[in-house]
Amino acid sequence: MEIILLASGSSGNCALIRAGHGSERTTLILDAGIAMRTARDLASQADCNLAFVDGVLLTHAHSDHCAKVVPLAARAKAPLWAHPDSLSPRSAASPKEIARRSVVHKPFESGQAFQVGSIQVTPVLLNHDAHPTHGFLFEADGEKAGFFTDTGTAEALTPDLLHGMDFLVLESNHDPDMLRNGRYPPFLQERVRGDLGHLSNQQAADVLSEAAPNTLRRLILAHLSERNNTSELALQCSMTALRSRGMTLMPEVAPKRGVLRVSSELPIEL
Ligand SMILES: [Zn+2]
Ligand SMILES: [Zn+2]
Repeated sequence: MEIILLASGSSGNCALIRAGHGSERTTLILDAGIAMRTARDLASQADCNLAFVDGVLLTHAHSDHCAKVVPLAARAKAPLWAHPDSLSPRSAASPKEIARRSVVHKPFESGQAFQVGSIQVTPVLLNHDAHPTHGFLFEADGEKAGFFTDTGTAEALTPDLLHGMDFLVLESNHDPDMLRNGRYPPFLQERVRGDLGHLSNQQAADVLSEAAPNTLRRLILAHLSERNNTSELALQCSMTALRSRGMTLMPEVAPKRGVLRVSSELPIEL
């Protein structure tokens, strides 16, 4: 299995999940909150044509995730997998827009696994201010991956959930001191750090100290705030947590825009 990160953060998110071989090869788009052209260009750098994907998955109804999921699904003639309540009438992924573009909506329920080609997908309900918001577990090719961003608390990310995981994409949104001393107005600071906001570096590190499995081969910190975080702070915090568990794994940061391949092969950043 391979996770290919194309965009991460509040200015837009997009990733690909690929698994299987030959006629069983399956490619899924996970969120699309960036321009179609940017998504296409980045995907082609990763040898993927977005017109030939098998499905599009939606985490939640914020525009940095949902803005282009419907047009991308329409172009690929692929179904859009989304929780019914994530298709907000006020969002770009509204039921009206889905009908207008003749996209097939495949509804999923929290915690109910489903199969798309060779990939088993389990939606995991997260605490965030677009309700519902989901992270996902992916299982394919004898490997297990988790993708969890946009969550104000980490209570869903239990040792049981992460058990046996090979690849983990985990939100590490902000440094609390930078947030407190930064330029965000108080109401926005409250939103970001609140239980329905985003995971801080320290909260991500707590997940790792409590639940990082020793099977983990790649850890990608994602959805970093541009104003209230730095890669160095996020990496340092997570690394300290991994070392406390005796793990020598080097965490990486998802690029705001760019191709980062996550698989059992050696890391290559294009
Ligand atoms: Zn987001
Ligand atoms: Zn969000």
